[in-house]
Amino acid sequence: MIERTNYPVNYRAYFAGALDRLHDERRYRVFADLERIAGRFPHAIWHAPDGPKNVVIWCSNDYLGMGQHPKVIGAMVETATRMGTGAGGTRNIAGNNHPLVELERELADLHHKEAALVFTSGYVSNETGISTLARLMPNCLILSDAWNHNSMIEGVRQAQTEKQIFRHNNMAHLEELLAAADPARPKLIVFESLYSMDGDIAHVNKICDLAEQYGAMTYVDEVHAVGMYGARGAGIAERDGAMGRIDVIEATLAKAFGCVGGYIAASSAVIDAVRSYAPGFIFTTALPPPVAAAATAAIRHLKTSQWERERHQERAARTKSVLSAARLPVMRSPTHIVPVFVGDPERCKQASDVLLAEHGIYIQPINYPTVPKGTERLRITPSPYHDDALIDALAEALVDVWQRLDLPLNASALAAE
Ligand SMILES: *Cc1c(COP(=O)(O)O)cnc(C)c1O
Repeated sequence: MIERTNYPVNYRAYFAGALDRLHDERRYRVFADLERIAGRFPHAIWHAPDGPKNVVIWCSNDYLGMGQHPKVIGAMVETATRMGTGAGGTRNIAGNNHPLVELERELADLHHKEAALVFTSGYVSNETGISTLARLMPNCLILSDAWNHNSMIEGVRQAQTEKQIFRHNNMAHLEELLAAADPARPKLIVFESLYSMDGDIAHVNKICDLAEQYGAMTYVDEVHAVGMYGARGAGIAERDGAMGRIDVIEATLAKAFGCVGGYIAASSAVIDAVRSYAPGFIFTTALPPPVAAAATAAIRHLKTSQWERERHQERAARTKSVLSAARLPVMRSPTHIVPVFVGDPERCKQASDVLLAEHGIYIQPINYPTVPKGTERLRITPSPYHDDALIDALAEALVDVWQRLDLPLNASALAAE
């Protein structure tokens, strides 16, 4: 083993040094060992160093609890029993598995697009989707929101074409950049509909206005909106009546749809071109049939059921108002995300540790580079299944932690949004 020998190069030191840097900056991450309990979400078992304990999860992106929905579990189990586990290869090697074909039809219908293409994750769909689209347009200029997710940044980087970053949600800046660009040049605007760390929303129609005015193509990440917004759960673009104005809609099957996988929905020409040219699609094994069937079941359920969406918004609103009334520094957000400001990486991690060890509440700390330094926070995601008693217990636990760590409470209770 090269790490143990006396070479002139000390390989071990590279990795140990890299970890030391993270420890020094208080950014070293530890993940809790959790076991979710289907049918009892958000309750889970935490496999703590001194044995298993019951905890309540307050930071899951399984926003609507669809990962435990009987229809979704049923579809997964039934399909696995009938068709087996894996897809058996890339689609180039093994063909399309039928549940995946059905899933893509369901997704195209969800977004009212001609076609959809499924990838193994939302990350891959952005990375390979954005880079492939941009590479197919010679001399493409990418205009990218400053707060875009890492998967979009990687897609832009791998496109190896010029990019310009517009200030977050700043339409005047986007227009300035569009106006300065050569009208004959292909332009791709990439943005998220709902930014998940602050819970703020893009001006989708305004971006479409600008795209139409300056002849740009639009690409939106609806990862934190599908299932939860719009009459059929197609996202913010559906809610805002802008779905038909967006060229490419990207989202995940892993958050509100409770499974795993990602996709883009667009015109058949765009989808067929990405299918034919995207390395992140071509060279990797397709999603397993049981996962595709489960995702289809979740999407179909949320197309007609309003209960999850309405209860989700109501629970988020109640959580915000109870925490605000307890004078906790809830960051204002018009959506289901409830960020609570800490502003220090060390204490953010301590707060999370005390919540878990002493209150049985699991909230992962959100530190740099996920959010800018100095804006560290606890990011709370209420679901339809967090009842009043859980919300009240959360507020009490947070106040206790705030007092113990000497974190500032608001001088007076703020009115929640
Ligand atoms: C989580 C996330 C992704 C990646 O989706 P996965 O399916 O988890 O890979 C993409 N975009 C945004 C904004 C995300 O938060």
